[in-house]
Amino acid sequence: METPWIAENLKRVKADLKPGVTLVAVSKTKPIALLQAAYDAGQRDFGENYVQELVDKQVLLPADIRWHFIGHLQSNKVKYIAPFVYLIHGVDSFKLLKEINKQGEKLGRVINCLLQIYIATEESKFGFEADECRLMLESNEFKALQHVKVVGLMGMASNTDRVEIVAAEYKGLSELFEELKGNYSDLHILSAGMSGDFQIAMTAGSNMVRIGSSIFGQRIYS
Ligand SMILES: *Cc1c(COP(=O)(O)O)cnc(C)c1O
Repeated sequence: METPWIAENLKRVKADLKPGVTLVAVSKTKPIALLQAAYDAGQRDFGENYVQELVDKQVLLPADIRWHFIGHLQSNKVKYIAPFVYLIHGVDSFKLLKEINKQGEKLGRVINCLLQIYIATEESKFGFEADECRLMLESNEFKALQHVKVVGLMGMASNTDRVEIVAAEYKGLSELFEELKGNYSDLHILSAGMSGDFQIAMTAGSNMVRIGSSIFGQRIYS
């Protein structure tokens, strides 16, 4: 497969990033050859949404890739990605965090996680409400977890062309992040922004963007 366009897309996307923003290349549904092309162009952070697909790809690609799980994670599937996942973005319940902790304990590793915050007003999405998140972080039950490390927050804005809505949602997320950072020194990652809205997210303060279609092309779901 001829894939020079991957390197070109990556270069173009990277040129648009603010300094200090980490690019996670979202490769869900895309074939190994395209991920390899991105890797060959220097990309090391990849994001996947589906557990089985991530597991299948991980064994076929170089070991120094940092695999980000960005989808909705079911507790019963944590065990499949726990041995190698670099960062789990979408932690949306204490139950899930406890399960990640349990698997981390079995493996003797501390698994880095982001708490997903519910910010979209336009449709129902997963995530903690701000207050729920504050309470959990304060709880002794949370503090007892030794094998997960909450290193930041993640959010997905409404799927709308109305820039002011998206900007307001990301601003709210960023304000919560700044507030919590004051109390929890482990928090340093704000994962926000996809192909269509990462400029808005960076303006609000995102320092990790998850970009798929602008690098790998549109996804076709059959
Ligand atoms: C698919 C996906 C992305 C990337 O979306 P694009 O619009 O292709 O950039 C980012 N984040 C999450 C959580 C996703 O599921």
